[in-house]
Amino acid sequence: MRYLIASDVHGNLQALEAVLAASPAWDRLLMLGDLVGYGAQPNEVVERVRDLAPYAIVRGNHDKVAAGLDGAETFNPAAQHAAEWTRATLSEGNRAYLAALPRGPLIVDDRLEICHGSPADEDEYIFGEGDVAEALVRARQPLCFFGHTHFPMVVALTPEGDLDMLRQGAGDHDPVRFDGGVRLLVNPGAVGQPRDGDPRAACALFDGDTGEIRLLRMAYPVEEAHDRILAAGLPKVLAQRLLVGR
Ligand code: ZN
Repeated sequence: MRYLIASDVHGNLQALEAVLAASPAWDRLLMLGDLVGYGAQPNEVVERVRDLAPYAIVRGNHDKVAAGLDGAETFNPAAQHAAEWTRATLSEGNRAYLAALPRGPLIVDDRLEICHGSPADEDEYIFGEGDVAEALVRARQPLCFFGHTHFPMVVALTPEGDLDMLRQGAGDHDPVRFDGGVRLLVNPGAVGQPRDGDPRAACALFDGDTGEIRLLRMAYPVEEAHDRILAAGLPKVLAQRLLVGR
């Protein structure tokens, strides 16, 4: 079974389409939340995802705000502006779809689980070593995919209890093999708003038969996503950051 893992699309249809078009073959799609927020095409992205019918999907913090389940008080002004615009722009049906998305973590199979922020809290950011260590302990499955930070990484907890940062950040990384013994925490990076200095869309592929995990990057028409954000009257900074992947 081959899984395509996609997180943080953030209303960027061009990036999502590029990932779907350029990804190696997969059987099941896993989505880690934040379909909307920041980007100019929330309805188009939600409808595309509804058509794709992911095998498993969890909501993200931006989905909650766009669905009206949560306020945007904790967001910075640009994110707040985008969240309010997104909520107003979404069709009723798409808003209802986001409102009904499950809270993570979700167990996907006998080895794998997915969440948005962390296995303990969908809104929590996993950044430092302490966060990583706690998440690896809290995860109920040995292989846990998370999103939210928009920063690709693969980190292992060895049987000896040591943390081993296997891959992180931008770059064309060699695959990692998941073969039991270790516990792995994997962030595929963001499809629609990368923040590791590489503007290309990010996603991951996990082959359940070979155990191979690959962090992938796909070029997409960034200028188009940029122009659509400006045309929608959304904050300029949200358009500009796409060009530099920050
Ligand atoms: Zn996000």
